[in-house]
Amino acid sequence: MKKVLITGAAGFLGSHLCDRFIKEGYHVIGMDNLITGDLKNIEHLFKLKNFEFYNHDVSKFVHVPGNLDYILHFASPASPIDYLKIPIQTLKVGSLGTHNLLGLAKEKNARILIASTSEVYGDPLIHPQTEDYYGNVNTIGPRGVYDEAKRFQESITMAYHTYHKLETRIVRIFNTYGPRMRLNDGRVVPAFIGQALRGEDLTVFGDGSQTRSFCYVDDLIEGIYRLLFSDYVYPVNIGNPNEITIGDFAEEIIKLTGTDQKVIYKPLPVNDPLQRQPDISKAKEVLKWEPKIDRSEGMKRTLEYFKSLSEEELYRSEHKDFSSYSEQ
Ligand code: UDP
Repeated sequence: MKKVLITGAAGFLGSHLCDRFIKEGYHVIGMDNLITGDLKNIEHLFKLKNFEFYNHDVSKFVHVPGNLDYILHFASPASPIDYLKIPIQTLKVGSLGTHNLLGLAKEKNARILIASTSEVYGDPLIHPQTEDYYGNVNTIGPRGVYDEAKRFQESITMAYHTYHKLETRIVRIFNTYGPRMRLNDGRVVPAFIGQALRGEDLTVFGDGSQTRSFCYVDDLIEGIYRLLFSDYVYPVNIGNPNEITIGDFAEEIIKLTGTDQKVIYKPLPVNDPLQRQPDISKAKEVLKWEPKIDRSEGMKRTLEYFKSLSEEELYRSEHKDFSSYSEQ
């Protein structure tokens, strides 16, 4: 049985990857320090013989006994609010964490796929974003800790590929949504749905003219799976090119949930990208991949998930409390 290590296993994307690899018949080792992840997302896997879980911070030396065939590095805070609160951990997991996992991959002769992001393009000056665009990132802005850690992650991954001949893959993930997103992580999909379900007004930041392009999680996982098993070593955008303004998106959520709440406007966060849309020509060509689930279907499924949460979860305090995780 082939063995795969998935970091960030208790998070949104990590948990869906665990499910996929279990379904494909792998032995899955999930790793997470649970700083932003939640064991609830993978609880259903603990009864399986071919699933193991290590509570570990990958910024520290990573040891896994025995052989390992694949590593998928998905550990990282991934919402602007999280990385404002835990900027140093965000930098460490993308840099030191990636270095540790590349070292592990080299030691085990495993293929490694790392999760990069559309944030490497920053507030992009070309549209839509192609993989050969170098980006427009403010290194010292509030998003810099995430963006630069991810840019460093890509560099060190390519360096291991070039100098150590390591088998590496890099996926640039655009905005993704679906079941198991953290309700209060501040990202726009759970923010709007949570507000609608609680009977609160929907908070649009800025004038709502900024755009995003939302990909349903199942489509993203399929793209990542194909990339891992392809022989393409350069970064590949995976996302849904269907672009919408945040203002129009708020109206869609109001319609979908049937809430009679209205939209209220709040200041636009610093360095919030004005536009974002993936050019997925590369993924189409190399992976024969494109998204299949449109936003109306994906949002319906996502709403069902959020509706299934308990009252306690729905009303839990605004954002995750990181105070118990004091180490920087
Ligand atoms: N946003 C918003 N209201 C919210 C949360 C987010 O208008 O309650 C906006 C945010 O300013 C950004 C967009 O929605 O322009 C997407 O934000 P998110 O944090 O989901 O992801 P990212 O900015 O990293 O793409």
